Amino acid sequence: MDAIDHVVMNAHLHYLGMAARVIEPVMKLAVLTCMDARIDAAALLGLRPGDAHVIRNAGGRASGDALRSLAISQAILGTREVMVLHHTDCALGRFTESDLAERITAATGHPFAEELGCFTDPIDAVLEDVDRLRGYTGLVHRDKVRGFMYDLAANALREVLERKSAC
Ligand SMILES: [Zn+2]
Repeated sequence: MDAIDHVVMNAHLHYLGMAARVIEPVMKLAVLTCMDARIDAAALLGLRPGDAHVIRNAGGRASGDALRSLAISQAILGTREVMVLHHTDCALGRFTESDLAERITAATGHPFAEELGCFTDPIDAVLEDVDRLRGYTGLVHRDKVRGFMYDLAANALREVLERKSAC
């Protein structure tokens, strides 16, 4: 089969076919990741239209809005797994809450005091978000919440596993 035939087939199967028309994600997967422009979640994870929900915010944090979206994703649209995908060199790890709030205040001329989700340890931030999701009663399925770190410089993806407790 020529490459052109192959991509035309892909278009029929995935963009024009059922996968792109069914509202429920075919892979029953939701990905929570950062809005960072360097991350192309679909390309990185091989997702096609119809495959998964991708919820993005600054930091890929399990914020109130992300939790609400995931509640809808699972209870209404049938997803069962949540992949928390953070990355190296995240802006939220390079600034403190007060730094960012001051900069937003200075830039807008209006006081800004909303929570932004800054963190000091990127691995802790992933674990914190995974824990928050596992403890969130708005989710139907909390047994398959897993955290990952995407290393931009190394172009590598690795799972962030639970730290063994010291005692
Ligand atoms: Zn980021």
